[in-house]
Amino acid sequence: MRVAVYPGSFDPITLGHLNIMERAASMVDRLIVGVLNNQAKTPLFDTSERVAMIEEAARSLPNVTAQPFEGLTIDFARRNGAQFIVRGLRAITDFEYELQLAQTNRIMAPEIDTIFFTTELKYAYLSSSTVKEVACFGGEIEYFLPPSVAARVYEKYPTQENMKRIAEASHEQN
Ligand code: ADP
Repeated sequence: MRVAVYPGSFDPITLGHLNIMERAASMVDRLIVGVLNNQAKTPLFDTSERVAMIEEAARSLPNVTAQPFEGLTIDFARRNGAQFIVRGLRAITDFEYELQLAQTNRIMAPEIDTIFFTTELKYAYLSSSTVKEVACFGGEIEYFLPPSVAARVYEKYPTQENMKRIAEASHEQN
């Protein structure tokens, strides 16, 4: 059984993350998305909200689950019997950091391999922090996120524009 973990902050999950999940899930029997509970950072969404958003967005991928974790990724991988760690690469700037992480993990856990997926070009610019910045100033974020996630981000930044979007969405639903 091939098992991979995909660790990250996912604050919140974007279409770039989802694309990596789809591609990784097609290569393994189980993909476990690990949502990092980092005490040093104050996230926009708490861990359980981030897990719930991932599970909702990945509903059509039956072999994908999400769970919170703390501490080292290799410990999380070992606990779940994973042989692979999945990470995504957008640009050269990601590469240096990711390579350092992968090499460090490889020394500590030689039985676990890191697999990198290069981003789909249309998501190469996309990050959770950019999305939050756009939403914070009342910009439209539906292009970047699964629809259910966009609504939750608008709720976190109740600008006039965002409140209008929430009202319109609930009007369309009824
Ligand atoms: P972290 O805080 O660990 O970087 P992120 O949630 O920002 O967590 O990202 C998790 C992983 O997904 C990282 O490997 C990151 O490079 C990758 N990733 C983030 N956004 C994208 C994207 N748009 N396309 C491809 N990979 C991405």
